[in-house]
Amino acid sequence: MPVKVGKYLIGETLGQGAFGKVKLGKHTETGVQYAVKIIEKKEIAANSMAANVKREISIMRQLHHPNIVNFHEVLISKASLFIVMDLVKGDELYELLRKRGHLTERDAKHIFGQLVHGVAYCHEQGIYHRDLKPENILLDATSNVKITDFGMSAMTGLVNEAGNPNALLYTACGTLYYCAPEVLSNSTTGYNGEKVDAWSCGILLYLMLVGRLPFESEDMAALTKLIQSAPVKYPKSMDPMAMDLISRLLEKDQHKRITVREARQHNWIPKPTGENGSTN
Ligand code: ADP
Ligand code: MG
Repeated sequence: MPVKVGKYLIGETLGQGAFGKVKLGKHTETGVQYAVKIIEKKEIAANSMAANVKREISIMRQLHHPNIVNFHEVLISKASLFIVMDLVKGDELYELLRKRGHLTERDAKHIFGQLVHGVAYCHEQGIYHRDLKPENILLDATSNVKITDFGMSAMTGLVNEAGNPNALLYTACGTLYYCAPEVLSNSTTGYNGEKVDAWSCGILLYLMLVGRLPFESEDMAALTKLIQSAPVKYPKSMDPMAMDLISRLLEKDQHKRITVREARQHNWIPKPTGENGSTN
């Protein structure tokens, strides 16, 4: 029996995240397909996420950019919350990298350029994503980037407030690989969302071009140490301009690190052409 939520027929599962499933939803009147993120109310309560989910929705509502998944509406039932957004029909960046290993410089420029434009736009609105990783970067059928999952951006003061910031961050995003060094330190000085996103972008660009992460370890403590103090190793074949950009983004001192808005001006980043944010 197909489940119906409001005017949407809920179909196959498109993706599974930390706090919710994303399923296909077909509007029964228009036939248009959407992606519906389903969050159980009891999950929200159990994780004290009510304020965060509210913010995720209000953030999605206010963002309008060709490289950010477009919010449609929100529905509420007795047991769940349904966030209806535009369906993105291509692979996640995660899938693309899994299939190809790494990207050509041309493809990386195309994808990373759009990512930087989308993230810089968020920063102009005072919104920081804080969970930029390949699973949250969707690609449509023509490889246009659509950034999704503003669930973490809602989590103001996620770290450096509670007693055990690392553990909290780890459970919340499930991965440390994209996490900036200052977030992992136990300092109570806080951090700058713009610089945290810039670091994640640096990790993503390295991953796209090289096909592996710059800092890797199965062990959380060892990984933390690498992120905080190991120098990045670049393959000899890497384009010097790309390397320059990565090294500015993966600057361990957040005060010296460039912002994503500055990265947008970097010579390696293609200038946007056309209206759809495509850089090809
Ligand atoms: P979580 O906050 O639980 O990580 P996400 O918003 O990241 O949830 O969604 C989980 C997964 O669902 C994504 O990694 C992706 O595979 C899929 N997904 C999310 N939004 C869309 C969308 N608009 N179109 C198609 N698939 C999507
Ligand atoms: Mg996600």
